[in-house]
Amino acid sequence: YNRVLIKLSGEALSSGGNSGYDSQSIKSIVSSLTDMVKKNIEVSLVVGAGNIWRGEIGKKLGMDSVRADYMGMLGTVMNALCLKDSFESAGINCIVQSSLEMNPLVENFDHEKAIKRLKEGKIVIFAGGTGHPYFTTDTTAALRGLEIGAEALLKATKVNGIYSKDPLKYPDAEKYQ
Ligand code: UDP
Repeated sequence: YNRVLIKLSGEALSSGGNSGYDSQSIKSIVSSLTDMVKKNIEVSLVVGAGNIWRGEIGKKLGMDSVRADYMGMLGTVMNALCLKDSFESAGINCIVQSSLEMNPLVENFDHEKAIKRLKEGKIVIFAGGTGHPYFTTDTTAALRGLEIGAEALLKATKVNGIYSKDPLKYPDAEKYQ
């Protein structure tokens, strides 16, 4: 592939799928992706926020669901900035684009600019989800992947495939080939 979009779940930035950040986990992600950039593969990322917050948590607490989802979208921006910092420490240029306007912190999402940055050898991280509540960052990844013409969408998660239901909750979940 020449251009890929990788969906990283927020938990990938933590230790063992917990909350918060783990420097070893982040270093390992950054090192793998840096290798890809050095092989001239154009790498873009959509990052989740499960290590910080998911809308579901707020809904269970009785929060307004739209507000709870916006908190999740903000969490993705924190994760994107954390990754940008690590890529830049590793000598790789990285741009964060957000669906939610956050000037001057990060650029606004712009697919043409994103493609230009990728062609310049920069990693582009799409933050802020789709910018709309009631979605997840998986949807964002599919959407952004299409918008930038990615040849592949790769999903990095703690689940090792696609199942008929959540394999962590249901031992009889069937894995699709
Ligand atoms: N979210 C949203 N709209 C989007 C993407 C994300 O409202 O387009 C919110 C939603 O509350 C979600 C949270 O952001 O639970 C974090 O995203 P996700 O659950 O996809 O993170 P991941 O599980 O990949 O870490």
